[in-house]
Amino acid sequence: MRNFILLIALFFVTQWLLKKLRRANERSQAEARADARSDPRADSRTSGANTRTRSDANVGSAPQLLDPLIRCAQCGVHTPRSESVVVAGQRFCCADHARRYTAAPTGRDAR
Ligand SMILES: [Zn+2]
Repeated sequence: MRNFILLIALFFVTQWLLKKLRRANERSQAEARADARSDPRADSRTSGANTRTRSDANVGSAPQLLDPLIRCAQCGVHTPRSESVVVAGQRFCCADHARRYTAAPTGRDAR
């Protein structure tokens, strides 16, 4: 009975691994195909759709892979990059601090 359960678990693990592998293969193949299609005039509609799906995939995978902490220019609190607000080349933890910083830009630097 125990072996049976182990077999089932093994089955699910292999299925999961295969799915993961297949997804990685599909992604690399799609990118290779998009790169190979160098002529922009040839069916621009499909290539446009391809670029859109590619960018979607990038957006979905980017926050999981790297989400570095950045320092708020106003209060110094470290915030994940995806949640930060960028105003005038400076990064902030929230829109309120960005507004306060731009309202008095020299107030903190003069200190
Ligand atoms: Zn802040």
